[in-house]
Amino acid sequence: MINKTDLEAFGYFDMFQNSPDYDKDPIRFYSQFVEDKIFTKGRDRLIENTLGLVGEAGEVSEKIKKLFRDKNKFSDDEVLKELGDVLFYTVALSNI
Ligand SMILES: [Mg+2]
Repeated sequence: MINKTDLEAFGYFDMFQNSPDYDKDPIRFYSQFVEDKIFTKGRDRLIENTLGLVGEAGEVSEKIKKLFRDKNKFSDDEVLKELGDVLFYTVALSNI
């Protein structure tokens, strides 16, 4: 199960550190953060966020590919950032 430490590792949460609502319920806070960033509705929202999820998953796989191709260029931070992007779209789809 994802937890607060995982969320912070994705790098989106430095801006939330001073919010008491974040400390009370980080998952709910993040869910609302995502909701506030989405402006499409209905079918457009479904398509936008599905394509976003697939695109970001592709970025994760690209980073992992480089792990094997260019062993010395792998970066945990880069993979975590992309996983944070995957989480964004996962939450966006979950909120529909
Ligand atoms: Mg990305």
